[in-house]
Amino acid sequence: FNSGIKIAEAPPGIEGEGFFVTKLSEVVGLGRKNSLWPLPFATSCCGIEFMATMGSHYDIARFGSERVGFSPRQCDLLMVMGTIAKKMGPVLRQVYLQMAEPRWVLSVGACASSGGIFDTYSVLQGIDQVIPVDVYVPGCPPRPEAILDGLMKIQDLVGKESIRRRNGEQYKALLSEYGIQ
Ligand code: SF4
Repeated sequence: FNSGIKIAEAPPGIEGEGFFVTKLSEVVGLGRKNSLWPLPFATSCCGIEFMATMGSHYDIARFGSERVGFSPRQCDLLMVMGTIAKKMGPVLRQVYLQMAEPRWVLSVGACASSGGIFDTYSVLQGIDQVIPVDVYVPGCPPRPEAILDGLMKIQDLVGKESIRRRNGEQYKALLSEYGIQ
């Protein structure tokens, strides 16, 4: 795969196999993007597609993401899959806030992204009303290939992320809402 690491040619007169030149942020990004730890926040049918994605046929382990966890503090990729009721919104936001930076959010399927077919009073019309989303995966449900495509787009973002903590305006607004400085 393309690691982004450039191999420099040895200057004239210096023999040997050459040497690597890269930036610290690229090495950290390379490690992070190939070892994402997902937290599957699955509430309904799209979660079943995630189970298929985890299985040997689609094998999410090829992307280094087979280590799913249910402790937000140990995960850096929140995968939201399924219909999110409005009552579940604050729970989802709290889970997001419990994850350490840097963290990413993948919205899987029509329900998580827009409410899907459930255009009704009790269903959140998109999780981006309560948390920031990095990548949306379309479909009802998305096939495992689409979920893996979304994961690869997240990997692209992760590889380019600053090694510094992300601290955008949306993040600050969430923290102040919870009274956290
Ligand atoms: Fe179910 Fe479709 Fe909603 Fe996914 S998008 S949770 S498959 S209704």
